[in-house]
Amino acid sequence: MLGEEGRGFIYLMQDLPQERLSIAIGAVANAKAVLESTVAYTKERKAFGTTVASFQNTQFKLAEMAAEIDMAEVYTDRCTELLLEGKLDTVTASKAKLLTTDLQCKVADECLQLFGGWGYMWEYPVCRAFADSRIQRIYGGTNEIMKLIISRDLLS
Ligand SMILES: Cc1cc2nc3c(=O)[nH]c(=O)nc-3n(C[C@H](O)[C@H](O)[C@H](O)COP(=O)(O)OP(=O)(O)OC[C@H]3O[C@@H](n4cnc5c(N)ncnc54)[C@H](O)[C@@H]3O)c2cc1C
Repeated sequence: MLGEEGRGFIYLMQDLPQERLSIAIGAVANAKAVLESTVAYTKERKAFGTTVASFQNTQFKLAEMAAEIDMAEVYTDRCTELLLEGKLDTVTASKAKLLTTDLQCKVADECLQLFGGWGYMWEYPVCRAFADSRIQRIYGGTNEIMKLIISRDLLS
């Protein structure tokens, strides 16, 4: 037997912040990779005699995503520091999981849009990234449950 009888759920709960942080780190890494491939694609793809990257809408979308991903990365880096110090609490980890996985889904969706029809084809990794991003908001505790944890702390 590992540990004390009847305490299995408590042991599991103790490691949830770390699990949620690992999901958050994966979300940021994935968003960065998708953005990188989208920057490359929009510089190559031609529409109306010019590249997709030359449209101001494309530039604004890419800029917004880059800024949000950078912010998310700073937060997850801070969470990693807290984890290593043994100070990562449930609420802080829940905030990381909530915002980074929402961001990952948003980035996958916006990037797919910039690929146009090709983005909907399995041949393009952005399609896979779009499908895979969706589960991130469900496992490890759904994002609705993350909001419950955060709001409970605010209102307690
Ligand atoms: C691919 C995959 C891998 C997984 N891996 C693991 C794993 O390794 N280990 C593990 O333990 N579990 C794992 N899970 C399970 C996962 O954690 C659960 O699916 C998740 O916690 C949601 O639970 P549920 O599916 O029962 O949804 P439900 O609890 O039925 O929720 C359905 C909907 O109701 C909402 N909801 C539920 N309660 C509330 C509430 N109180 N307030 C507001 N909204 C609420 C939810 O947010 C969701 O939108 C995995 C699931 C998947 C799909």
